[in-house]
Amino acid sequence: MSNQRRIFSTTSRSRLEGVHPALVQLAYGVLSHIDCAVVYGVRTPAEQQALFDKGLSKTLDSKHLIQPDGWAHAIDLAPYVNGAIPWDKSPYFYNLHGVVLTVADIQGTTIRWGGDWDSDGDFNDQTFMDLVHFELAGAIPDAGAVHV
Ligand SMILES: [Zn+2]
Repeated sequence: MSNQRRIFSTTSRSRLEGVHPALVQLAYGVLSHIDCAVVYGVRTPAEQQALFDKGLSKTLDSKHLIQPDGWAHAIDLAPYVNGAIPWDKSPYFYNLHGVVLTVADIQGTTIRWGGDWDSDGDFNDQTFMDLVHFELAGAIPDAGAVHV
């Protein structure tokens, strides 16, 4: 990790549109510590259905869908290493998860990770691993109180 200033690509930034400001703040906070890319933000019901049909998601009631408060409550965040996402190297994803949860803790945001759905610290007690998935959990922050 270095202290060089990083920026999200135009694609990553566009994927943060419609995402709850607490998660946008989190994504930028994480980026200041470790390079990463936003893989998914808001999904339409049709996109969610397509991912469900392909087995890439286990629910049609995804937090990526716009929630009643008008925001998506999930982002998919992937490590970015030497110019690419190392999809076949899970240690990078576990490493990123540690940074995400640390930054979230500092920001006062409770996060549920797709690599530990029940948030018990055991990464081996589940059947569906979604290492890029981070969603708001617990009390949802007031979007208007978050300054990104
Ligand atoms: Zn996700």
